Amino acid sequence: MPGAGPLADRYQKFRSEFVIPANRVDPVFKAAIAGCQARTAGYIQLPVGESFTVEYVRGKSWSAYNWYQGGYRSLIQVNTDLPIYIDRALDLACHEGYPGHHVYNVLLEQQLVRNRGWTEFSVYPLFSPQSLIAEGSANYGIRIAFPQAERVAFERDTLFPLAGLDPARAAEYYQVMELVQQLGYAGNEAARRYLNGEIDRKAAADWLVRYALMSPQAAEQRVRFFDQYRSYVINYNLGQDLVREYVAARAGRSATPEERWRIFRELLASPRLPSDLRAR
Ligand SMILES: [Zn+2]
Repeated sequence: MPGAGPLADRYQKFRSEFVIPANRVDPVFKAAIAGCQARTAGYIQLPVGESFTVEYVRGKSWSAYNWYQGGYRSLIQVNTDLPIYIDRALDLACHEGYPGHHVYNVLLEQQLVRNRGWTEFSVYPLFSPQSLIAEGSANYGIRIAFPQAERVAFERDTLFPLAGLDPARAAEYYQVMELVQQLGYAGNEAARRYLNGEIDRKAAADWLVRYALMSPQAAEQRVRFFDQYRSYVINYNLGQDLVREYVAARAGRSATPEERWRIFRELLASPRLPSDLRAR
């Protein structure tokens, strides 16, 4: 990161050049959703009539949320309290939509509730082992739909121009994001210490700024997420690692995209516990 001073400040300055202007958020999201949907449709057949709507909201502890409505429909809410960086468009489109939560819930309804008559799967217990798989697969879904090189190309050719950002900087931006993502578990430690009463909310937010390179505003929002969802935070990074390892162990190194998608789809369409994901 160029410049002087703490790394967190230099990173925030770098990242500030990749904010989607407020009046372009919706078209960028629509293009991101179309990209995720097209890729997912190539590998997972979804029931006719599935769809979701997107709403923009404020005053939430999360950045986006999928409220599955049943009948193959979702309501996806995107929180616009904080600046939305360009990477969030594809991340949220995949995570909340295709092949993330929307697809997961549609497949559970189709395969388990309707085809098998297992009505209990029409109830989704949020604070349950199922959410480790839901959040983990939704995050892994970003990678399976857009492997890094393909993602950079799509961002450069489609999303950056729509957002009015310089397409020539897409590769550089995603190189940095890839590194920052490796700091994800620092957030789990902040939550652990905070929820165990070892540190207060100010110290938790400072920890997120220092070790997870969050902006002070994002860190404050994240601590409110800890208040509301507590240990749920581990579902995102631990879940993603478990799902990635699960798919990798079954697909093997030379797997084709088709094989990886098939294993991923079967995971989404069947009742599982996190212990089922462990490598055997
Ligand atoms: Zn989620």
